[in-house]
Amino acid sequence: MATIGFIGLGNMGGPMAQNLVTKGHEVKVFDLSDEAVNTLVDAGAARADSAGEAARDVQVVVSMLPAGKHVKAVYMGEGGVLENAAPGTLLIDSSTIDVDSAREVAAAAEAKGFEFVDAPVSGGVAAAAGGTLTFMVGGSDAAFAKADPILACMGKAIIHAGGHGTGQAAKICNNMVLGITMIATCEAFVLAEKLGLDHQKLYDISSKASGQSWSLTSYCPVPGPVPTSPANNDYKPGFAAAMMLKDLRLAQDAAESAGANTPLGHDAMELYEKFAAAGEDGTDFSGIINMLRG
Ligand code: NAD
Repeated sequence: MATIGFIGLGNMGGPMAQNLVTKGHEVKVFDLSDEAVNTLVDAGAARADSAGEAARDVQVVVSMLPAGKHVKAVYMGEGGVLENAAPGTLLIDSSTIDVDSAREVAAAAEAKGFEFVDAPVSGGVAAAAGGTLTFMVGGSDAAFAKADPILACMGKAIIHAGGHGTGQAAKICNNMVLGITMIATCEAFVLAEKLGLDHQKLYDISSKASGQSWSLTSYCPVPGPVPTSPANNDYKPGFAAAMMLKDLRLAQDAAESAGANTPLGHDAMELYEKFAAAGEDGTDFSGIINMLRG
């Protein structure tokens, strides 16, 4: 069992930290929200009063924060993780952040002799609670080998993507495909409606033909064909449009920074911007079908 400092106890980090406690690790927690810390302390974790304190005298640090600026502040800021962690502490950031920030923090950590991995997750709050997340990990072979058993307490699949930043790269490339295929699937249903083709018939045919995708067969954006999809529950998330927009923006930032041509990723981002601006940012991302119907 390991001693672990966990920083960022929100919708995802709270249940992830809880799983580490349940699996028998000694966990010290910090969040800007006292309420979030209290919940974990009631569940058996120890309280830390700062990110630096959470990182002190532990073998592993795990963070689950909103965006790159929070991760940089927590690790590289004054009184932060890099100033306080003991030599040899393994650093794991599971937040979804931009590739450039992930590589910047990794370089700063390495310069101080720490092993760092970016390890963003696929799967939402239910997967965080159930310990069934998928982790995409960027870092050295040695750091991955050390992170693997810790991440396995919170996830069902732990995949080594390559060097620093490739975990974040895998996450945004995957979610760019998801955003684009969801819009494509929605457009197909909207066109089918106009052409007098029944939803279930399009599903039955496309799910066995070349139009098949996860967006269709696991997350169908019309009610009926896939009973568990948010379309059957008034488009309650699920995966909120705001989250999809965040990931599509990260993909476009990365594409710009790396000089990659991603026109459909760009269009998908603009459509989700329009959807969010119409007050639908809290709606499941498959609900964009209602905007596409016009
Ligand atoms: P959240 O906003 O619920 O939680 C973030 C937590 O970080 C909050 O409790 C906040 O108080 C804390 N925090 C912010 N700055 C801090 C600081 N300086 N020190 C300590 N704590 C700080 O977000 P979430 O839904 O838990 O998501 C976390 C990350 O996981 C994000 O990067 C998100 O994109 C990613 N993600 C979320 C989901 C999801 O379904 N919610 C799915 C996959 C990935």
